[in-house]
Amino acid sequence: ALRKLVAGNWKMNGSLGALVELDAILDAANANAGLDVAICPPFTLIAAAAARVPGLPIGAQDVHMAAKGAHTGCVSAAMLVEAGARLAIVGHSERRADNHETDAEVQAKATAAIAAGLTAIVCVGETEAERDAGRALAVVAGQLDGSVPRDGKGETLVVAYEPVWAIGTGRTPSVADVAEMHASIREKLGALLGAEGAKVRILYGGSVKPDNAAELMAVADVDGALVGGASLTAAQFVPIIEGAA
Ligand code: 13P
Repeated sequence: ALRKLVAGNWKMNGSLGALVELDAILDAANANAGLDVAICPPFTLIAAAAARVPGLPIGAQDVHMAAKGAHTGCVSAAMLVEAGARLAIVGHSERRADNHETDAEVQAKATAAIAAGLTAIVCVGETEAERDAGRALAVVAGQLDGSVPRDGKGETLVVAYEPVWAIGTGRTPSVADVAEMHASIREKLGALLGAEGAKVRILYGGSVKPDNAAELMAVADVDGALVGGASLTAAQFVPIIEGAA
């Protein structure tokens, strides 16, 4: 099995004051050294978070594909590295929906992140209508086709499967559905990346909580979690880390 990664995505939440949560999260990461733990706060908190807990990998929630230039409001991979980031989430469904990001853009962002030395977490996942139509596996395979960079080493790429209908809803797919999807993603990564595909960690995301983490993390080819709301406090996130360990 691959070394698990439990990553928190703070989305547009948090503050300098909230970084106090990172102290206990780092303690839990150190106490569970068999897995990796990371937190992705808003851009504005990356430098302060990285300075506060140097032992805890800090990530961004997005990155621009260009190195620099006339892209008002955007942040490059090199800027993230300078701020202390070690990972970048790309193609989260909220950005695909709110910011109309395409598979091609997500792929370019992942390529830029990896080239700068970041680990790229590429997010994929079907909508409820797509699952109800029996198209979940095909939709996700198509997203992987378009979004996964082909040239990276497997270790620098992470895929997060986040069914859109499970995000922030308290609903999760059945263990059988998670197993089916992760097996399908693993097969697709092999087709796209050859032997490197076996090294890519596949995270599950969507309403991961302390009470369901252990069950979800025990599923074959689930190599960790991408956690939203429950990553905002150590009280919620630490039991998830422990459940994954
Ligand atoms: P929740 O854990 O709040 O459902 O969010 C999942 C998610 O979108 C993480 O990126």
